[in-house]
Amino acid sequence: MLLFDAHCHLPDTGTGSPVQIRVVCGTREADWEAVLAHAASDSRVVPMLGLHPWFVATAAPGWEARLDALLRAHRTGVGECGLDFAREAADRPAQEQAFRLQLRLAHALQRPVAIHAVRAWGRLLDLLQEEGVPPAGALVHAFSGSPETAATLQALGVFLSFSAGDLGSARSKVQETLRTVPSSHLLLETDADGDLEQAIGLAAALRGVATEDLAARTWKNGLRCFKELMA
Ligand SMILES: [Zn+2]
Repeated sequence: MLLFDAHCHLPDTGTGSPVQIRVVCGTREADWEAVLAHAASDSRVVPMLGLHPWFVATAAPGWEARLDALLRAHRTGVGECGLDFAREAADRPAQEQAFRLQLRLAHALQRPVAIHAVRAWGRLLDLLQEEGVPPAGALVHAFSGSPETAATLQALGVFLSFSAGDLGSARSKVQETLRTVPSSHLLLETDADGDLEQAIGLAAALRGVATEDLAARTWKNGLRCFKELMA
C-alpha cells in the first residue's frame, strides 16, 4: 500500500515506518536547518519551512528575509503557517501579517503551502480570497472546520488533510466532516503523533470505501498537492 503522510514534524516518528512520503514542516526559525538536514538524509521526506502562528510573537526580527533566502536556496514548500485564534492572547493582526507574507512567498516562488487554522475560518477565507490560493498547491492540515467551510476551501482548490489524532479521538464533528469531503481534495496525516495506516483504515470505514482505495486516492492527491517538490 502506498502511504502519503501529508503533515508531520520533527522529531519525525515515521523514520523506519512503511510510509513512503512524509511532509515534514518547520514551525519556527530554530528548526528550519534541522528540517533541511533531515530531508537531505532521507529521500522520502518533503521539507517545508515556515513560521507557525504560535511562534509569530517570539520570532526574531528579520525572519522574513531569512525564510525567503532559505526557500530560494532549497527546494522546499512554505509552512506551517496560518491563523490560530484559540488563545485569548493571540495577536491576530501579527498572525495575519505573517500569514499574508508567507502566502506571498508561496506565490512568488511557486511553492505549495501548509496551513494551520484554528477558530479562524472566516479570516482564513478572507485572506485566501484577498491573496489568492498559491497555484503550486495548498492544504489546510488537521482540518477541524465545518462541512460548509470544507466545501468553500475545496472550491478554491485547497486540499483538506485530516489528522490521525482527530479521527481517532472520536471528535464526532471531524468524523462527520470527513464523511462529506469529496475525495478529490482529501489528504491524511499523522501530525507526527499517530499511525497513518490506522488513520486510513478508520477514514475508509467512515467513508464506506476500501482501505486500499483510500490509500491510493490520498497518495495521488498528495502527489498533486506537492507536485512542485516531487522528483
Ligand atoms: Zn503541524
